[in-house]
Amino acid sequence: MRRVYNFSAGPAVLPVPVLERARDEMLDYRGCGMSVMEMSHRSKDYMAIIANAEALLRELMGIGEDYAVLFLQGGATLQFSMIPMNLIHDPATQTADYIMTGSWSEKAYAEAKKIFADVRQAASSKGVNYSRIPRQEELTLNPGAAYVHMTSNNTIFGTEYHHVPETGAVPLVADASSNILSRPVDVSRFGLIYAGAQKNLGPSGVTVVIVRKDLMGRNANMPVMLDYQAQAKEGSMLNTPPTYAIYILGLVLEWVKEQGGVAEMERRNIVKADKLYAAIDGSPFYACPTEPASRSRMNVPFTLARPELTDAFLAGAKAAGLVTLKGHRSVGGMRASIYNAMPEAGVDALIAFMREFERSNG
Ligand SMILES: *Cc1c(COP(=O)(O)O)cnc(C)c1O
Repeated sequence: MRRVYNFSAGPAVLPVPVLERARDEMLDYRGCGMSVMEMSHRSKDYMAIIANAEALLRELMGIGEDYAVLFLQGGATLQFSMIPMNLIHDPATQTADYIMTGSWSEKAYAEAKKIFADVRQAASSKGVNYSRIPRQEELTLNPGAAYVHMTSNNTIFGTEYHHVPETGAVPLVADASSNILSRPVDVSRFGLIYAGAQKNLGPSGVTVVIVRKDLMGRNANMPVMLDYQAQAKEGSMLNTPPTYAIYILGLVLEWVKEQGGVAEMERRNIVKADKLYAAIDGSPFYACPTEPASRSRMNVPFTLARPELTDAFLAGAKAAGLVTLKGHRSVGGMRASIYNAMPEAGVDALIAFMREFERSNG
């Protein structure tokens, strides 16, 4: 067996101890005589698994009792529709503000427009190819908006908020798919936080939604599966939940806790990101398209001064066991996703390869 360093943006690397634990428990989950995949979601054993996942997430993120924690399906993408459907009860008069920081913001905005016409853009960095996060003073917020939507980390463009936008009494909604649990966050500053699990929380198939309870139940006419309140009432078990994905998510949360929690994740993520950006900035052979103050600790895009060598770089990296480094087509070049589960040794190996590639091609 040979494990590579996987820099995929998502689905992404998982902690090896989590995979080993899942392997060990595959045929016989803790004396049950069956795998988690084969269990009834209503069984005592499974109810303990989902309750443990919720309790760990609440503990790690400091989520108060005034918030519901939901494990849903449909990915972060379904939340682009569920958020406006749940938080807006009168599409004729209500509006919302979207802060545009990349492709995922654009997709969220486009879905909201289908639910109600008057969706505003409170700011956009599209004019600079989304290379930075708009500053507070650039936001034109509507105090009457039902909510303000932001993308806390821009997986494709490699930018991240290093502050929480001030939105007054208007609830702030964050797509945290690619940086949830990567740093401490004051949940009480948000009305809703959502994240597809497959970047920093676990496998694909489950989406975490953390929603302030007073924001649920505003729209009486919801299809039941899309209704936060109905999902909360049934403990995310209106129907069969993605049982195995939630189990793995629980193992990832246990791993984060054992490592020292979210503060320790942040400490490691700063070390990894600082090293990689320093390697890029320290050489005229490499360049990073993002504004330094807006740089993501999770997704690091970089390009070559000689773009014609990009394919050779990717092929050489792959041969060295460094895979899925190809950049998104809207940015080009390379992208290294260095989520919680990417060890520092993986970043060191990438930097060593970059130096070697520069030496032989520079
Ligand atoms: C990956 C990603 C999504 C889409 O997630 P799905 O679970 O595939 O729907 C949305 N927003 C952000 C920020 C992402 O990184």
